[in-house]
Amino acid sequence: MTDLYDMNHITRQKVKEFAAENNYPPPSSTLIPIFVSLVTRHKLSIIMGQIDETIDRLLVLNARLDEAVEESNLVAVVLIKDRLNEEKAKLRVYERLLEKESPMPKKETNGITDEMIERAKDSPMEELLEQYGYQVKLHRTHCPAHGGKNPTSFSIKDNRGVCHCGWRGDTIALLMELEKCSFVEAVKRLQ
Ligand SMILES: [Zn+2]
Repeated sequence: MTDLYDMNHITRQKVKEFAAENNYPPPSSTLIPIFVSLVTRHKLSIIMGQIDETIDRLLVLNARLDEAVEESNLVAVVLIKDRLNEEKAKLRVYERLLEKESPMPKKETNGITDEMIERAKDSPMEELLEQYGYQVKLHRTHCPAHGGKNPTSFSIKDNRGVCHCGWRGDTIALLMELEKCSFVEAVKRLQ
């Protein structure tokens, strides 16, 4: 609620300043909250629109990537992956903006800290796989995500796993996959 109050307070000031700068009569105390809510909604709808457009581009790029992989067009694969990363970076920026502007309560972190997340990421992926009965040979094993029969489809490098089925991730993502649990749950279990 404090965040919402701050945001409205700041926006109220801006509405008053705007009126003064443009020689409009000062808005009345009943009108200001309405302006504020309109401004906030307008900002949120712009951000949501940008997110929608970015997601559309990501979907198109993913489809193109599949085609390029099928055609074994390596140059296209590299170029499309670059574009995908650019769009993903944009999406993260919009998500942060949305979080900043949104009157919704901040995400519940359930008491996990950044240090706990780092520790969970650093816990050895190969040991975790072995605990779940996977036989890891030369940093390769069956893929826990798509469950194929190939014992070398899932490869581990720098404590991150990757499979041709498209799965890629760190130890936290792997445990989430193995246990079908939440991010917070996985971080807690990996301490
Ligand atoms: Zn796989």
